[in-house]
Amino acid sequence: MQLKTILKRVHPVKGFVYEAVKWVTVEGGLGLEVDVRPRSGTQAVCSGCDTPRPGYDTLDPRRFAFVPLWGILVWLIYAMRRVDCPCCGIKVERVPWAEGKHQLCTCYIWFLARWARRLSWKETAEVFRTSWDTVFRAVEAAVEWGRARVDLTGLTSIGIDEIMAWRGHKYLTLVYQIDEGCRRLLWVGNERKARTLLQFFHWLGKERTALLKFVCSDMWKPYLKVIAKKAGLAVHVLDRFHIMSHLNKAVDEVRRREVSALRIKGIQILKHARWCLLKRPENLTNGQQDKLADLLKLNLRSIRAYLLREQFQFFWSYKTPGWAGRFLDQWCTRAMRSKLVPMKKVAKMLRVHRPLLLNWFRAKGRISAGVVEGFNGKAKLVMKRAYGFRSYRTLEIALYHTLGDLPELESTHRFC
Ligand SMILES: [Zn+2]
Repeated sequence: MQLKTILKRVHPVKGFVYEAVKWVTVEGGLGLEVDVRPRSGTQAVCSGCDTPRPGYDTLDPRRFAFVPLWGILVWLIYAMRRVDCPCCGIKVERVPWAEGKHQLCTCYIWFLARWARRLSWKETAEVFRTSWDTVFRAVEAAVEWGRARVDLTGLTSIGIDEIMAWRGHKYLTLVYQIDEGCRRLLWVGNERKARTLLQFFHWLGKERTALLKFVCSDMWKPYLKVIAKKAGLAVHVLDRFHIMSHLNKAVDEVRRREVSALRIKGIQILKHARWCLLKRPENLTNGQQDKLADLLKLNLRSIRAYLLREQFQFFWSYKTPGWAGRFLDQWCTRAMRSKLVPMKKVAKMLRVHRPLLLNWFRAKGRISAGVVEGFNGKAKLVMKRAYGFRSYRTLEIALYHTLGDLPELESTHRFC
């Protein structure tokens, strides 16, 4: 069987025929070039209006990278025709195997993009003997294609999260769809300003926004303002993940202050205690459990903060906003009397946002606690893997590619 026969089967191109196949030597190994020519009697299609038009002239042959075969790099070689279109003027033709000015065949774009989800971009480039840049361009094209076709039918619940990007205090805003049965990253924005979130609502459009029933977020002020303004009809919930991470930060701050206070006195009891105090008790290792048991015997500020945080976990087990509200008030009073400044700060914040916090119980059953947290973890992983991604654009593409659950192009043959 000839290569042409295989190509015709897995990658038919209407209006064109595969011609000679020849060996070429390329850097680092073997390559194949496959000539393509128009089927005789067919007209070129104008790229402006998608209509067959009379020919004008032919450009120099172009190389289109194709899916490699058995580790051999493959290119289609084709001389693009120009058409004389009565509507669009002189235009380069549209070919069925590649988009616009892309030097990659569409099937190769999807091939690389799919692999780039299983391997890192660097590994993908190495395995298929191409450059990181090519892999990035392929992923970018796949993401753009998918983003243009995102179906928002049935979107009722969103979760808004901010995440630190790179080093230093630069943030991204991530918006997730958190509906039962459809959970994905919907939107990424640079920074975490009011303007950022406004851009999201602009993207979503008024009609879709009006259909939102639940919006989950952190207590970040610019977000609260924008949500109240744009999605005032939806139930706004301050979600468990964000509240608990505020409490964790407060516990950690109390611990750090105490460590330095004790160090001055020459006491090192809190050394290596960070994770004992931050992890949930059930997740501790045996060694950490022993350490925690020792610490609990001492009347340390860190321990009092830790116990306050643990008590707060009860809040989430209530069934009704009424009882949860009573618990919240009692807890806040206790925290305010604790003389622990970071804990008092959290208590004040919770008091201010009491109604939004209690919305958690109004939405109960419809918003699961783990969704935003799960996405937050995955997004952090993407960023970690994307270590070295300097630009916002690369990070944005990587996040959409991994978490966006984007639609993919259907083709005759799936190369991977
Ligand atoms: Zn035209």
